[in-house]
Amino acid sequence: MDTVSSTTAFPTSRLRRTRMTDVLRSMVRETELSKGDFIFPLFVVSGKGIRHEISSMPGVFQLSVDQIVRECADVHALGIPAVIFFGIPGRKDEVGSGAYDDHGVVQEAIRAVKKEVPGLFLITDVCLCEYTSHGHCGIVRGDQIVNDESVALLVREALSHARAGADMVAPSDMFDGRVGAIRAALDEGGFSNLPIMSYAAKYASGFYGPFREAAGSTPKFGDRRSHQMDPANTNEALREVAQDIQEGADIVMVKPALSYLDVLYRVKQQFGMPTAAYNVSGEYSLVKAAAGKGWVDGERVMMEMLISIKRAGADLILTYFAKEAAQVLDRQR
Ligand SMILES: [Zn+2]
Repeated sequence: MDTVSSTTAFPTSRLRRTRMTDVLRSMVRETELSKGDFIFPLFVVSGKGIRHEISSMPGVFQLSVDQIVRECADVHALGIPAVIFFGIPGRKDEVGSGAYDDHGVVQEAIRAVKKEVPGLFLITDVCLCEYTSHGHCGIVRGDQIVNDESVALLVREALSHARAGADMVAPSDMFDGRVGAIRAALDEGGFSNLPIMSYAAKYASGFYGPFREAAGSTPKFGDRRSHQMDPANTNEALREVAQDIQEGADIVMVKPALSYLDVLYRVKQQFGMPTAAYNVSGEYSLVKAAAGKGWVDGERVMMEMLISIKRAGADLILTYFAKEAAQVLDRQR
């Protein structure tokens, strides 16, 4: 980071001078938000003609494959370069079979969108929690979520997404060794050019609440604290990120974004990697709820949140605000 040179004292220096007009404010602006930074999350459900609004996330929908294609065409037309798919299968089981079924909801969505909206970059979330009957991210034995067996299934899921035509896979489970295992399997399967965006520092966060309604992935018992990180830790986040980079991650992510901007900043400073931040469901819902009550200017708060994430070091922002923010940015040009 550049060091800030010392300024001369008032009245020689008047820092307000550069704030006096719109033109000059924009000329000295240090951070620019762009539509090209956004990744829009989408929830794919099985069935046809389904467009079900998630009650805790106004404006966000569970969509069947036919509707996903329409939504992706809109997203692409707005100038947003990428989406990330989360699948909610028709049937869940103990081992999350829907996740690595070549005809699963995400796989079908990839094929359909690739055909109709070929220019859109398709990322897939790789985890088992939306697919397991118990709602955990991996295989459960007794009261433990076991690591290595779960990783083997995540590898199958990532390969299945790659075969369907995904442009990038994004493991979100936080099990140890999954990035390396997925990298090796992709290389062996003929996908050595397929990048991995790892959810590298993902915290056990209360801000995921609305997502769990959207993805139907609330754990039936226990929680995710044995694999997701303790919100109190940041040195550990750097170790997580370092490990994922060593295992072959091409882009590293911090999740959630807003309560973890310090982590995001440190990750970007330390590694200089392409860095993503996930502006999660709870962060979205808080703004929507407060704006709905007239307590905050929703649009203004949305843009301020997004620029803060960019300023802290994110190159890419996964956000449910992507479409709205893209429209605001278009208006401002
Ligand atoms: Zn999960």
